[in-house]
Amino acid sequence: MNSHDYMKKEEQYGAHNYHPLPVVLSKGEGVYVWDVEGKRYFDYLSAYSAVNQGHCHPAIINALKLQAEKLALTSRAFYNDCLGEFEEYITGYFGYDKVLPMNTGAEGDETALKLCRRWGYDKKGIEENKAKIIVCAGNFHGRTITIISMSTDPDSYKGFGPYTPGFVVVPYNDIEALKKEIADPNVAGFLVEPIQGEAGVYVPDEGYLKAAFDLCKKNNVLFIADEVQTGLARTGKLLACEHEGVRPDILILGKALSGGMYPVSAVLADDEIMLCIKPGEHGSTYGGNPIAAKVAIAALEVIKNEKLAENAEKMGILFRKELQYLVEKHEMVELIRGKGLLNAIVIKPKKGKTAWDVCLALKENGLLAKPTHENIIRFAPPLIINETQLKESIGIIKKTLEEF
Ligand code: PLP
Repeated sequence: MNSHDYMKKEEQYGAHNYHPLPVVLSKGEGVYVWDVEGKRYFDYLSAYSAVNQGHCHPAIINALKLQAEKLALTSRAFYNDCLGEFEEYITGYFGYDKVLPMNTGAEGDETALKLCRRWGYDKKGIEENKAKIIVCAGNFHGRTITIISMSTDPDSYKGFGPYTPGFVVVPYNDIEALKKEIADPNVAGFLVEPIQGEAGVYVPDEGYLKAAFDLCKKNNVLFIADEVQTGLARTGKLLACEHEGVRPDILILGKALSGGMYPVSAVLADDEIMLCIKPGEHGSTYGGNPIAAKVAIAALEVIKNEKLAENAEKMGILFRKELQYLVEKHEMVELIRGKGLLNAIVIKPKKGKTAWDVCLALKENGLLAKPTHENIIRFAPPLIINETQLKESIGIIKKTLEEF
């Protein structure tokens, strides 16, 4: 079978809920992926920042293999001999009392929302069923009914109502708007992405997260950070909130928590919050299974041992500096923004050529990236990328844009 055959099969038998670039991948290693015809590409999407550690990292594969051969899943009806080790490791790693493991990012967000509401009733004293959670316009937290109920993107929510109530939307990066809503005594939490990834890598003004955190403290409201995409070294710090010295009350992690090897997400909080949820009130069949526990420990070890945050910071500065050249010289590139190795360019269409066409041309030249919201191209390579590889890939981006 060739690429065309594989694509045809997916088209015929799979739901049409994605619109992939026409490339069929069959192998990955480090910063590279290969298609079924053997062509090599730089992966500048990193499975939406899940493979921060690079494709098929040997240490993570090893953890997966060893545990898969021993014990894969027991369910939480029983204890297993890996979960406690993972819980001790991750709570120590991030400095929280407790962790609640789940599988996907969306489940992590759902968990945080439940935890926040429960805290609102049990600790803040909000009247039953009256709790509100403030969220930001342009947010992306996943695809469940409750999560799309918070979304302001019609592609996410339109045609899927009725929606879950209890959310208040404020503009992102607008402290005054937050100040107005947060004084309502029924507000239990404020949920925010430190940088809005899916929306198109929107970096808020410096000081926004800290000011929002301070407002939360002043009003006895939980500051909940969705670091599913920004976390785990992607923005040049272990957590993006660290750029402003903010320690979230509830921290949501996913994606790179397994280095792309397995679906693992986690919610971290201190006892005062986490112990509001009692046995039987929340969980997941696969959440905290032995493979996930071992894979996540290995993935977190790689981030520390290989100093991925430091590398993302250093390579990110170089990347933005080099691409700034395009902003000045190329009429199709409006701006570049980002932090660490989470960056995006905004494309100004020219003669009917859009960001999608740019991504198709990038693919031809050996680099994979995907447009988000029509005119934005996110550039997020694995964080293990070295300077030679970065310069080579910047060369591809420049050459490709010059072809337009
Ligand atoms: N939260 C954020 C900030 C995300 O970027 C995403 C996915 O892109 C999610 C949550 C949802 O994660 P998942 O697709 O694993 O459910």
